[in-house]
Amino acid sequence: MIRVGMDAEASYDYLLTSEYASLLAMEFGWNPVVDDEAAFDIYPPPSHPEPSTLPIRPPVVTIMGHVDHGKTTLLDTLRSTSVAKGEAGGITQHIGAFSVPVPASGSSGDARTITFLDTPGHAAFSAMRARGAGVTDIIVLVVAADDGIMPQTREVIELINKEKVSVVVAINKIDKPGVEPSKVETALLAAGVQLETFGGDIPSVQVSGITGQGLDQLVETISALAEMQDLRAEREGLVQGYVIESKVQKGLGPVATVLVLRGCLKPTDHIIAGLANGKVRLLHDSNGKPVKVAYPGMAVTVSGWKVLPNAGDEVLKGSDSDIKKALANRERMADLNATLGDVELLNEQRRQDRDQKEKETAATKASKELEEDRKEDGPKELRLIIKADVSGSAEAVAGALQGIGNDIARTKIIATAVGDVTESDVMRAKAAGGLIVAFSVGVPRPVQSVAASQHVPWITSTIIYRLMEDVTAKVIELLPPIV
Ligand code: GDP
Repeated sequence: MIRVGMDAEASYDYLLTSEYASLLAMEFGWNPVVDDEAAFDIYPPPSHPEPSTLPIRPPVVTIMGHVDHGKTTLLDTLRSTSVAKGEAGGITQHIGAFSVPVPASGSSGDARTITFLDTPGHAAFSAMRARGAGVTDIIVLVVAADDGIMPQTREVIELINKEKVSVVVAINKIDKPGVEPSKVETALLAAGVQLETFGGDIPSVQVSGITGQGLDQLVETISALAEMQDLRAEREGLVQGYVIESKVQKGLGPVATVLVLRGCLKPTDHIIAGLANGKVRLLHDSNGKPVKVAYPGMAVTVSGWKVLPNAGDEVLKGSDSDIKKALANRERMADLNATLGDVELLNEQRRQDRDQKEKETAATKASKELEEDRKEDGPKELRLIIKADVSGSAEAVAGALQGIGNDIARTKIIATAVGDVTESDVMRAKAAGGLIVAFSVGVPRPVQSVAASQHVPWITSTIIYRLMEDVTAKVIELLPPIV
């Protein structure tokens, strides 16, 4: 993953705008994540307080395991037990996450909670993981005692071996007659899960989602693991969270469940998630109760969005103007991506048309003739002479512009150099029938006159995507008209 900041226009050797950097990253097949935090200048620089002085936060737990091993049942029982244990009058609602209280531990006496994610199919979990956001502190691996290790159990084992995340194994369905949990434990050990029973460090608990047996112990085990991890988060300053799920709700409009990771989210806060922004209207917990402040580790439903944000999107808070700025930037990026996507679609269409034509030709012509045809039909080239302020950006521009087009028309870079556009660049472009691309450099007036008299086109910009757009448009001009 590449993270890039929203810096000012490129002016130094390696300081790039987020768009510029994103496009370059995409050119090389990466999926860039633009770190918008840099766009929010209302915050003081990070203070890096001593972590142990920060407030404790609840652990975020995801339940995983093979289908039919009892994940939903376990979550339902945990949810309803927590409601029964909590204040009366709560109505459980499915919001993608819920809190379970942990009995006060002897040492601290603090009332603690655990936040369980219960998103179907772990869609948000995968989406967030794909963006490099590890929101889950602890995974509960559910294995049905009567079924043992199954393909999805192995997938989870692979995942926990790869990611640095704590695990509790829940051997489920122990209420079933004749089951032998110890067999499952042995199988898990054989599959590389180092259970405490065998001297490892992964605790396992025997539970029944149906009868509720062992669930207290499961909660305690998770709580103990969390305590060992000493999970803490800043409540001051920057607010960051993730959308767990979202839907349009009657009377409230777009509503999203947001898992707050740091900072405190409050009504009237201006927030952004992907291309959705809004001003927090109401916050509710999974019991449908209004919440005044959502602290780190809490999941709350948030209303007040202008449009529906997507599950997995990062949520950030900022001033009204910062949010608007960030939104405008993101919309510009999205438009650009759409344009690039359209060009790719057009290219694909043309490729298909061309393939079709070739097939038809092949049916009527001898293969030698076809070979001749192909030679004659070689791709048209938009020859480029690239001038840039520093060699790093010259290479970057070349990288971004190279390969725009398809088999019918495409770019070809014939020269890359540093410095203002000169008369000899113009003459070179004329000889090649090419286009001069000037990135963050000038085209002196006398050179402009020469270019005009020699009919040599040139484009200039300090923003790489503009150059990409212009070059793409010129490549498109080379394509034969659609008939
Ligand atoms: P999921 O696919 O992992 O979410 O599994 P479900 O929670 O849907 O459970 C699958 C089936 O196993 C359902 O028929 C449940 O009633 C049953 N089941 C789940 N937990 C238990 C349990 O602890 N004991 C027994 N006997 N059945 C269970």
